[in-house]
Amino acid sequence: MRYLAALFFILNLSIIHAQKIRDHQIERFDFHKVDAHLKIDPTQKKVEGSVVYSLEVLYPDDSLFINGKNMQFRNVRIDGKNPEFSVDVEGIYILHDFKVDDRITLSLDYEVTPGKAVYFINWDESVASEEIKQVWTQGQGKYTSSWLPSVDDMNEKAEFDLSFEFPAGYELIANGEQIGNEIINDSVRLWKFNMEKPMSSYLVGFAAGKYRSVNSTTNTGVEIRNYYLPEDSLRVEPSFRHSKRIMEFLEKEIGVDYPWRNYKQIPVKDFLYAGMENTGTTIFSESLMVDSIGYHDQNYVNVNAHELAHQWFGNLVTEKSGKHHWLHEGFATYYALLAEKDIFGEDYFYWKLYQSAEVLKELSDSGKGQKLLSSTGSSSTYYQKGAWALHILRQKVGEEAFRKGLKNYLETYAFQNVETDNFLAEMELASGMDLTQYKADWLEQSAFKANQSLNALKESEFIKSYLELAALRETPLQTKHEYLDKILDFPVNDYLGQEVVYQLAGENSEEAINLYKKAFASNNLYVRQAVATSMQTILPQLQASFESLLQDESYLTVEKALFKLWERFPKKKADYLKKTRNIDGFYNKNVRMLWLTLSLVSAEFEPEKTSEYFEELSGYTNPSNPFEVRENAFGYLYQLGAFNEASLESLLMATAHHAYRFRDFARQLLDELIANEEYREKLMSLASNLDEQYTRYLNSKTSS
Ligand SMILES: [Zn+2]
Repeated sequence: MRYLAALFFILNLSIIHAQKIRDHQIERFDFHKVDAHLKIDPTQKKVEGSVVYSLEVLYPDDSLFINGKNMQFRNVRIDGKNPEFSVDVEGIYILHDFKVDDRITLSLDYEVTPGKAVYFINWDESVASEEIKQVWTQGQGKYTSSWLPSVDDMNEKAEFDLSFEFPAGYELIANGEQIGNEIINDSVRLWKFNMEKPMSSYLVGFAAGKYRSVNSTTNTGVEIRNYYLPEDSLRVEPSFRHSKRIMEFLEKEIGVDYPWRNYKQIPVKDFLYAGMENTGTTIFSESLMVDSIGYHDQNYVNVNAHELAHQWFGNLVTEKSGKHHWLHEGFATYYALLAEKDIFGEDYFYWKLYQSAEVLKELSDSGKGQKLLSSTGSSSTYYQKGAWALHILRQKVGEEAFRKGLKNYLETYAFQNVETDNFLAEMELASGMDLTQYKADWLEQSAFKANQSLNALKESEFIKSYLELAALRETPLQTKHEYLDKILDFPVNDYLGQEVVYQLAGENSEEAINLYKKAFASNNLYVRQAVATSMQTILPQLQASFESLLQDESYLTVEKALFKLWERFPKKKADYLKKTRNIDGFYNKNVRMLWLTLSLVSAEFEPEKTSEYFEELSGYTNPSNPFEVRENAFGYLYQLGAFNEASLESLLMATAHHAYRFRDFARQLLDELIANEEYREKLMSLASNLDEQYTRYLNSKTSS
């Protein structure tokens, strides 16, 4: 039976009626369990499944709605019988005489080609390598109901037990404990997972790829599985260096055991965000997998701690509505910061708080401050202002009451939905304080309480020294050089040392040169990095020291130093290029691509290899590469004015990429290229061989 056209006219389900059925359904039904068996066909980008829902009727009704975007449904059954139902683009409406206290078993089969929320990476025929094929999901903001019929409302929590049929040869990871892994036939494997506690559907997730894992167990017995691709084996240790420590820290700090059976972290290609806290199954951007050098500049620690903190804040207790979103993001941000303080120390902690206070103060001063209790907040409001609100509250009620209130809050509302007042009530109870004024100041006021936060920051001696130093920015160097000199005494503080260096930018006096020499000699990676990024003209007296930056264990430093040296000392170009020949740099190959570009424009350097180097650079734009790599390559090709057909085609395809920042970048760059007639003609002709959408897109750009 297809789409049940016959039933439609009997039901005459108007749009208004459909909306009415969907509204407030949460008060009429309680889903206990969602048992789904899914067949994932990545080459067809298709999902087929059978789902069994166990639910309870809380209030009599004649219809039940389940979200399922653009799905085809069949074999719908309630307790063995075939109920009437209808379908629209949003989901399925089941008509039945639902009686209070009835416990119902509803089952259905469905099929869908998801438009979003599940992403099939590199499964096109043109990609030969299996190593780079992946599938992953993103529920929050994209709706799990795009691939699994479920209730989108996060107030509906159910136990999800999922099993997946997936092509053999890959590892598949999903929420819960893996309880089965069977061979169905030569080409298909069955993966079964079991959960014991309920969660909202936006936290359902899975990922598949050629993964391996390293496992560890915390001192309280929580099993952690960290996944990686074989090619990334050298990145495993630096990336997951603190995973176990963070889990142990958060359990102790929060005072409530980790609420789920195990914890898995899976890096994926072309992810939409930094990370997503699917229950027990964090999916994060592969770009955060770093080697031991990259670790110094950018690492997974913050995202690791943030997503893990969500396992309590968001997953265990979940907001009732977007108005209380800070209960997720403010808490995850603050507890991640506490975990980082445990690892990187107090100065780091106060520095991060200081930086976010600066951002919030500026927004507030320019009239762009936002209330924390709002469903339309920006991420700086929910994340940064939310973290600040918690920091202030903790100071106000004291550490002991704060911990007690937090523990009671989590235990009272475990596996339920909450509002901000539920949290505040527990804090008032634990502290015996009236928090009315606090709520007005920090949660309901759009301005940022800059003075209160400044006072809180001044608890740190380091911040006091930093503010003193920063106040000298406009002071002439002759007046302050002795003061700056003292700050560079061993052992130099990372942030103070960097600030000294920034204050030297553009200076070339004797005093400045001596201070630069001392900064170089400090051997502090971050102070030296500040020199690499901020020194405007390399003075001859500092050339040798500046050259030594090429050996620093920081890819950011090496990139900046290589470019500045190459530009400033043309006679030594070949020397610098030889020294940095085999460095890839970050995930986006920042050092390698700069190196290729500089080699290409240094006529005297290995001219016989020009076409080889160009092919390599251009090849990085290939759609099978991660978007971070492609974006970097597009940028350099643009500077070189050297797009070939393959890179133009790749750019065209990037205008429809699922990661919006990359898509926007590609669209802007394409706008620039279209202005050039030669490129425009090439692009039009390339588009004619691709999906029609690209020609349409180009036409929309050229006709306006
Ligand atoms: Zn978050």
